[in-house]
Amino acid sequence: MSPPQSPDAVTCALCGATAPSLPLGWSTAVERGRRVVHCERCSRENVRAMESKLDPEWW
Ligand SMILES: [Zn+2]
Repeated sequence: MSPPQSPDAVTCALCGATAPSLPLGWSTAVERGRRVVHCERCSRENVRAMESKLDPEWW
């Protein structure tokens, strides 16, 4: 059930902001095999949260 978006369209996983293509400043990550996108604002606000989600086995 995927919406009819262009392959390059992105949606912020946190605030729902959308863009027709990945804007500068946005970040992407792969979590459990799915690509997640964060807009510039959310990626900034969640840098710490994203870092804390890194596999603790790495540390
Ligand atoms: Zn956002």
